[in-house]
Amino acid sequence: MAAARAAFEDGRWSRLAPAARKKVLHKIADRIEAEALSLAVLGVRDNGTEMGMALKAEPGSAAGTFRYYAEALDKVAGEVAPTAPDVLGLVQRAPVGVVGAIVPWNFPLMIGAWKLAPALAMGNSVVLKPAETASLSLLRLAEICAECGLPDGVLNVVTGAGAETGAALAESMGVDVLAFTGSGGTGRKLLEASARSNLKRCYLELGGKSPNIVFADAPDLRHAAKVSAAGIFRNSGQVCVAGSRLLVEASVHDEFVAMLINEAEALRVGDPLDLGNHIGAVNSEDQLRRNLSFMDMARAEGGQVVTGGNRILQESGGTYMAPTIVTHVARDHALFQREVFGPVLSVTKFETEEQALALANGTDFGLAAGVWTANLSRAHRMVAGIRAGVVHVNTYGGADNTVPLGGVGQSGNGHDKSLHALDKYVDLKTAWIQL
Ligand code: NAD
Repeated sequence: MAAARAAFEDGRWSRLAPAARKKVLHKIADRIEAEALSLAVLGVRDNGTEMGMALKAEPGSAAGTFRYYAEALDKVAGEVAPTAPDVLGLVQRAPVGVVGAIVPWNFPLMIGAWKLAPALAMGNSVVLKPAETASLSLLRLAEICAECGLPDGVLNVVTGAGAETGAALAESMGVDVLAFTGSGGTGRKLLEASARSNLKRCYLELGGKSPNIVFADAPDLRHAAKVSAAGIFRNSGQVCVAGSRLLVEASVHDEFVAMLINEAEALRVGDPLDLGNHIGAVNSEDQLRRNLSFMDMARAEGGQVVTGGNRILQESGGTYMAPTIVTHVARDHALFQREVFGPVLSVTKFETEEQALALANGTDFGLAAGVWTANLSRAHRMVAGIRAGVVHVNTYGGADNTVPLGGVGQSGNGHDKSLHALDKYVDLKTAWIQL
């Protein structure tokens, strides 16, 4: 934190011309692309994500994020405010100073880049703490940044446990903004730490229990089943926006569930480095144990496990779980209300659009959603009615740097990606000049 502060104060990065900062960020993007394969392998060995997904979502998207903010940084201008005729009012975007970033293990490089690239673009210094089970690719990224000309002290990657290293960032008087992605429980602790210390701004990107709503008039049920299966099972369900809560219209429920079971059972789970496998490992024994504990709860509450529900490939020494579908899940069940963060899909029937909307909004979360319908008016009604940061229509998942990602309710209060993310890393400063 001291190194970050010193680097910020002497202006070695914060006062560089935008064109110079842009050049460095582009170089970093080039290098991430050049090293994509080795970065992906490093990450996969660390966190178990299947290689196909890791290549696309980790170095692939991290490079794109650095490029996007490299291009953005000299396009965001200040304002001349419409003040009195004898006053010049200038609104400037000033870097905040030292940004603390705390990221989870599911997509470390991608989520790390979502924080780093806009924070660096606006001239800040950063102290980033990776998750304790997935820090290797971010450590390599720090080396890449140094090799590409980012001055010493501007980016500091510090590994360690959440309760020690992460808490030290949150408690610090020397961190101006904290950008966090992780669980709601940790998010609460960060807000408390901020209140106890310097009232640093905290941006929280938290979990979800995202509804994926299939109406009987969906354009192509088979396609919807394929995409919905990917929407929950990729990366073993360890995706914040995973479509983990399927709501399906009663008249197509049995047909659609049968299609989904076929899709789930066709997915090959195994060694994440083998490109022939669709799904890799669960991140840790702890996470796997947690996933399985939801199975006991679901059965006790009346849910029916129609495929999966168990650990597989234990003889390999890896932590694998079969893609799992649980039907007969009611609104008050744990599986409806709580994020598993595993390859577990809960299924609930509905009869009417009103019921679908009430069920969709029936949790404390509000991160993502999906709606499958050929009725344009209904699609718009659902987009307007669902409380979520993103609503996918006739697809599930898929986004790029041009659109924000963030939640409402207990899914958080900040947005990564898009030009809006730049606002997290600046203070608005007014110059009021009497002419
Ligand atoms: P987590 O909250 O346990 O850990 C996240 C990070 O916080 C880690 O680096 C951890 O070391 C650190 N941490 C833990 N305790 C801390 C403390 N007391 N003080 C400071 N730092 C601390 O979450 P996780 O299990 O690593 O990640 C999974 C969660 O992240 C899920 O809820 C998932 O939905 C969420 N997530 C959200 C998004 C999003 O964009 N909204 C994206 C990915 C993951």
